[in-house]
Amino acid sequence: QHVLFGPAIEVISAIEDHGGEAFMVGGCVRDFLLGQEVKDVDIATSLRPEEIINIFDKVIPVGIEHGTVIVRQRSLSFEVTTYRMEEDYEDYRHPSQVYFVSSIEQDLSRRDFTMNAMAMTSGGRLIDPFSGEKAISEKQIETVGSPSNRFEEDPLRMMRALRFSSQLGFTVSPSVLEVIKEKSSLLQHLSVERLAAEFEKTVAGPWYRKGLNYLAGTGVFAHLPVFCAHTDAAGRFPLVRLRDWSEMLSFYHQQIPGVPAEDWGRKWKLSNRTKKKAQNISGAVQMYKERGLGNYLLYTLGEADLGSWVNVMRSLGYELETDPVERYRSLPIHSRSELHLDTEELLQLFPERKKGKWIGEYLNALVQSVVEGNCVNEKDELIKWIIELDRQRQG
Ligand code: ATP
Ligand code: MG
Repeated sequence: QHVLFGPAIEVISAIEDHGGEAFMVGGCVRDFLLGQEVKDVDIATSLRPEEIINIFDKVIPVGIEHGTVIVRQRSLSFEVTTYRMEEDYEDYRHPSQVYFVSSIEQDLSRRDFTMNAMAMTSGGRLIDPFSGEKAISEKQIETVGSPSNRFEEDPLRMMRALRFSSQLGFTVSPSVLEVIKEKSSLLQHLSVERLAAEFEKTVAGPWYRKGLNYLAGTGVFAHLPVFCAHTDAAGRFPLVRLRDWSEMLSFYHQQIPGVPAEDWGRKWKLSNRTKKKAQNISGAVQMYKERGLGNYLLYTLGEADLGSWVNVMRSLGYELETDPVERYRSLPIHSRSELHLDTEELLQLFPERKKGKWIGEYLNALVQSVVEGNCVNEKDELIKWIIELDRQRQG
């Protein structure tokens, strides 16, 4: 896990060699103290972005106006941000202005939670003015300063508190929880994309029950798209954790059947890919409820969405008796192109007939009968089968 620290320390040393201060800050210090994997190391520095650009060969100016650049070191990326604070948040979304400050303590004071407001020197010494280490040892989520001011500045912090509780298994301190209950309606000022990202992380965390309990208990659910009109769904928890929005959508589609995927997609601004995957999974859940685990269900689901479907089924409380992956692999065909009868050959069987949607229907019927083991995938057999089907249809 410490592969990141070596190169991060090199970045810090280079800044110190140029007369600046630099520390590892935020999530990486928290995760390090927790003994968890550190995904990225953010660095806070006294130097201005222009000075950082001069020190390093490879710098990507991602947010100079906020004091942030990305330094590339040993093919890794490090966000290096000048100590800064923020002026009042005008519209609940953006601070009206950020300004640079001279001490790390000031920079730490703008951060959301005490566990996220620590810095660490390259030698491993902690700078912890808000007792973040204590909060971590007690597994408590506490705001830096008054929760009501901090949540009014940026209501997203309420979602972040619940999301961290789900990711880390921490308890949100009672006073913070009270303020979230009071101020949850401020969430309506936030962009739905930011809400969606935090909500996804909450549902996907190892302690997702804790997070979802808070979401329901604080009334935050009632301010989220779709859920606001279907508050009873807030109390229904998936039985296993869901990994992404498409799985979540499939799960909640069963709880709130009246809302089509299109509406979820529009109200939560989800990608078409997410929507399509959710529709595929939901279709297979429906098929299972009607007819059990059939080969054709597995075929239409496809290998890519199989794992997610199994996870959604578990989240809904269905126990699958056979291993669907094994069974999927042993299907006689996995796509229409594997049929030993193609469109041309089908047309030749019915030369008097015009092209039309019957072609697709017949090919799909063939696929289904092959997948379900009612017809062998050999040309002669397929021809016999389709002629019989045609006779039934015409007669
Ligand atoms: P993750 O593992 O999810 O990345 P993180 O703690 O690194 O967790 P980020 O969203 O990457 O979270 O933010 C990095 C740091 O910036 C936080 O640790 C916190 O100190 C600060 N921060 C982020 N968002 C806010 C916010 N809305 N208000 C105040 N401080 C914030
Ligand atoms: Mg981070």
